[in-house]
Amino acid sequence: MTTVFELLEKASEKYPDKEAVFDGANRVTYRQLIEEARLIAAALAQKGYQKGDRVMVSLPNWYEGVAIYFALARLGAILIPCNTRYSREELLYILENSGAKGMFVGKDFQYFDTFEQYLKSRNEDHHLEDIITVRSKKSEYSSYSDLLKKGRGYPVPSPSITPSEDVYTILYTSGTTGRPKGAMLTHENVVYSATITVDALKCSKDDVYLIPVPIFHVFGLVPGILSVVLKGSKMVFLEEYKAINALRLIESEKVTVHYGVPTMFILELNHPEFHKFDLSSLRTGIIAAAPCPEEIVRKIRTEMGCDIQVSYGLTETSAPITFTSFEDDDYLKSTTVGKFLPGYDGKIVDAQRQKVGIGEIGEIAVKGKGVMKGYYKMPEYTQAAFDDDGYFYTGDLGTMDEQGYVRIVGRKKEMIIRGGYNIYPREIEEHFYKHPSILEVAIIGLPDTVLGEISCAVIKLKPGHEEDEQSLKEYIKDKVADFKVPDRIIFVDKLPITASGKIIKHELKNIITEKLK
Ligand code: ATP
Repeated sequence: MTTVFELLEKASEKYPDKEAVFDGANRVTYRQLIEEARLIAAALAQKGYQKGDRVMVSLPNWYEGVAIYFALARLGAILIPCNTRYSREELLYILENSGAKGMFVGKDFQYFDTFEQYLKSRNEDHHLEDIITVRSKKSEYSSYSDLLKKGRGYPVPSPSITPSEDVYTILYTSGTTGRPKGAMLTHENVVYSATITVDALKCSKDDVYLIPVPIFHVFGLVPGILSVVLKGSKMVFLEEYKAINALRLIESEKVTVHYGVPTMFILELNHPEFHKFDLSSLRTGIIAAAPCPEEIVRKIRTEMGCDIQVSYGLTETSAPITFTSFEDDDYLKSTTVGKFLPGYDGKIVDAQRQKVGIGEIGEIAVKGKGVMKGYYKMPEYTQAAFDDDGYFYTGDLGTMDEQGYVRIVGRKKEMIIRGGYNIYPREIEEHFYKHPSILEVAIIGLPDTVLGEISCAVIKLKPGHEEDEQSLKEYIKDKVADFKVPDRIIFVDKLPITASGKIIKHELKNIITEKLK
């Protein structure tokens, strides 16, 4: 099995002068990318970094991030990508949990004062020795460009790396359901996952990927950066997501593979200037990371002309474990997340972890090559997430049909129990997404003294559209059983979303509870 750095070595040997990254500000060839990665690795080794050291990287989608990700791979150091929107507390939590030795931060980093304290008060619990800035004018820290200069005088480290054993990254889960947990992914885990992604999408060196999802999230890192480099293709980044900029880039860079979370596609399809752009270069892409409304998946195909594939995966599985395929019919492509990919054994189980029947709802469990080693320094969570046969329990509910097609019903934790009846938010959300006035919707459960829980639809309307609670209740009434009709309908201007574009339901629940007080 290959190491992560070997992916870049192969691409740069084959296509040294090919453009690897366009990040809006820089166009970087494979030759430049590997040269910078090697120099950074050499400079870090000279600074005392070694195989196994943890390094936090909190950067937007800049090419330097890609070079650093590969430099750390070369060094055998463990990459800890950090959300650029993390609060001070969240970053400190990750610093302490990971015991990171160094930290790369961008020009907009806000917490120098706090981390400066950590540098000064290093002790057994805090190992932070170094802050390295990128695109920043702060001269008191060493910078990415300093490392490039410094690296020239020193050898490029070449520790021995065992892909199946050595951890490449500790990726903290996005925290939509609680405290982030660090999923340890080995070189083999991520390289395997990148490989099955390019196979599923039939990608070649000629593909140009639009990666608007952040590179600190598994989606941007594994099926993103690593898949692109695996074939020597090109990645186009969006530093901050705006639908209009995504549309512009598809046209100007002749994007062939469009990645995104459902919200991004919803915003693009509904943008007033959508029809002005030439999107004919689009061949395929991935919609994933959150429930993908049937209506939206269809429209990506019919209105964008993009044969998008739906995928399902988690940080803990190095992302994709299922994919729809080009050969599937329109119905399967829009209503399922496809089948488990080669190298994975997936099943649907009940509360006792016994297999359920065909078409029955249960928890999705999976075993296979991309599945993490475990949670970093959290043995009790690791133990709870795996069974003795090595299956990882995803916390997601789904069904599987006779042919192996998987449908995601929702997260176990988000299921609403209203007076003893189960409500799966996803089912109701799907109906609302077909309504012409609705842009975004989330169904949440609210506590109720009589029924235990009631359901509430939180809705953002399309600009210029008007609806009221009654009209929407009427709309949904003949589509679902009466107990599934939301008890409350609340209109909002904005839904809270993570940096990777997912609706944060627990935060939404707090906001709505406050609002209703
Ligand atoms: P946390 O674990 O901290 O709550 P998170 O679950 O959002 O964060 P990720 O690993 O980013 O962490 O996301 C994985 C989850 O995303 C899956 O468990 C599933 O709920 C959801 N998901 C991914 N792909 C799909 C999909 N195609 N359809 C529906 N849900 C999906």
